[in-house]
Amino acid sequence: MEIQEIGKRGILFTFSEPYRTNVFVIIGKKHTFICDTFLGPESMESVFKHLKEQKKVFPRKVIIFNSHADYDHIWGNCFFTEQIIIAQEHFEKVFRTKAEKELNKYGKHQKGKVSLVKPNLLFHSKLFFPEDQIVFFSSPGHTAESASCFDIQDKALFVGDNVEYPFPYINNLDFESYVDTLEKYLSFDYRWLITGHDEIQKDRSLIKRNLDYLQGLKSGKVDFSKFTPEEKEIHRMNLQKILSLISDSEKSDNKYQKFQKDLLILTSQLEK
Ligand SMILES: [Zn+2]
Repeated sequence: MEIQEIGKRGILFTFSEPYRTNVFVIIGKKHTFICDTFLGPESMESVFKHLKEQKKVFPRKVIIFNSHADYDHIWGNCFFTEQIIIAQEHFEKVFRTKAEKELNKYGKHQKGKVSLVKPNLLFHSKLFFPEDQIVFFSSPGHTAESASCFDIQDKALFVGDNVEYPFPYINNLDFESYVDTLEKYLSFDYRWLITGHDEIQKDRSLIKRNLDYLQGLKSGKVDFSKFTPEEKEIHRMNLQKILSLISDSEKSDNKYQKFQKDLLILTSQLEK
């Protein structure tokens, strides 16, 4: 686990196994906020141990935030038995449909014995902690229940998996909201951008790159001729996912027919 201090009150914990993932902690005036809980109670125990050693948690109350319902961001929730765990309002429904399935499927990745614990405080558009100068806000994108956190004092923006290098993974057909979310991020005067799985971003290039890609998906035209093999592979997975999510009536839509053709081209290119 790598630990980096960010600004005056942020601490970024980066885990590397089984894949690079960030847990972002903000020591506010009144509360300590823990953004995402990685793969289980053992991961959270090591975060907590460090915070205690630095005397950085107490006497503040701890508040947990889940950026979205993917397993690699919520399995450590069970370490916290009495704390408030906040998330966006659509979390509940998504959690109900997939949490159990993901635990069965990816169970080998759990760090310590995981029991599924869902958030106990859901918000609609935003939740503001004035004394701490921390705001959580709805930011649908990678998933419908995605949400983000902005530390107004330190200007650190935590966006979960809505931003990812080289492209984000698509789990939601609402490209319009995704584009709006990325444009909203660009309107923030942030100094640090923290994503779920990348290194800290100090400029806007990764968001702009992701925005270009999403605008392509929104319009149905993604030019992948200059993509690297890695980018092509992610795009291929995204097209597969998108085509699995559309309804029968949408199958005749020009955009999705184009995606179907692109998928065949990509698959043959990648198999060479
Ligand atoms: Zn993730």
